[in-house]
Amino acid sequence: MFKLYKTYCHDKNVEPLGRKVFNKTFYAHNLSIYQPKKDQCNICFAYKYDNVSEDKYKSHLDRKEKARKEKIKDKAAAENNHCIVVTMDLQGVKLAPVIPASKVYFKTKLSCHNFTVYNLKTRDVMCYWFSEDENNSLVSSTFASCILDYLERYCITESKIPIILYSDGCNYQNRNAVLANALLNFSIETEIEVFQKYLEPGHTQMECDSVHSTIERKLRNKEIHLPSDYSTITREARTNPKPYEVKILDHTFFKDFSQNLRYPSIRPGKKPHDPLDFDSDYCDLPSRPKVGIPVIMQYPPLLKSRCKIKEEKYKHLQELLEDLPKDTHLFYNNLLH
Ligand SMILES: [Zn+2]
Repeated sequence: MFKLYKTYCHDKNVEPLGRKVFNKTFYAHNLSIYQPKKDQCNICFAYKYDNVSEDKYKSHLDRKEKARKEKIKDKAAAENNHCIVVTMDLQGVKLAPVIPASKVYFKTKLSCHNFTVYNLKTRDVMCYWFSEDENNSLVSSTFASCILDYLERYCITESKIPIILYSDGCNYQNRNAVLANALLNFSIETEIEVFQKYLEPGHTQMECDSVHSTIERKLRNKEIHLPSDYSTITREARTNPKPYEVKILDHTFFKDFSQNLRYPSIRPGKKPHDPLDFDSDYCDLPSRPKVGIPVIMQYPPLLKSRCKIKEEKYKHLQELLEDLPKDTHLFYNNLLH
């Protein structure tokens, strides 16, 4: 019913590069710097300077190629309605407010996040926006909440065609037992197969990245007064074939998927980092499922209330109010701290 064993590890830096350092000058001169969304591949880079063995490099390229082909194959199957294929990723963290007042660069601001899901066949895009005053924990359950919401809304078909999820192997977002068990429970409930496939680290460019660059372009030289301005701009960022859909999340949206795991470990190999390939056979998980777990799961809320921000951040945001329109003040005044 459920298969998820194609795993690679990849750490991802969600902080944008050099924001604090460059913004002041660049804003003033109306310039922007080229900021690669993903870091250059470590292995490919190290190979240039002879720091990686020929063998390791070759197998890296080989896995990259296999992942690419697998995705093309799945996309073609989706075109023929044999499955639903989506890619998903978190956009680099955004901040609120963003205003061209010089003192803004020395203040701490609210973090805003966009988790994006892209349907390869329909090109439909769903952006889940939330800010740290509603959810300040980027844990597995946060992302599982978005992914499960997406599956329930858009991926349950009468013909029960399988769902394939592509992502990088970032552990807390996409590659963990919490999400795997949530997907398994979804699969049991709906009788729909779910496959998770991870792209080769360093080569995880996917359709979500183009969504993120489209949004970034739209954001250029725009003022952001409230976190909700990001969702407005996201909706306006694309018109063809249709606007991006946006869901603004508050703390009540998020569920805690980390309790009652049927499979506390999803590591299929015998030891950590056992390589698995797109052409490896499926294998059984080494542990049996836990007994006594209900077939239909009810998940408790992840957060009991809105989240507190640090006192210093609250103070900084208060100091920025005089540079912000009056109708935004209530939001900042009401932040828990
Ligand atoms: Zn590479």
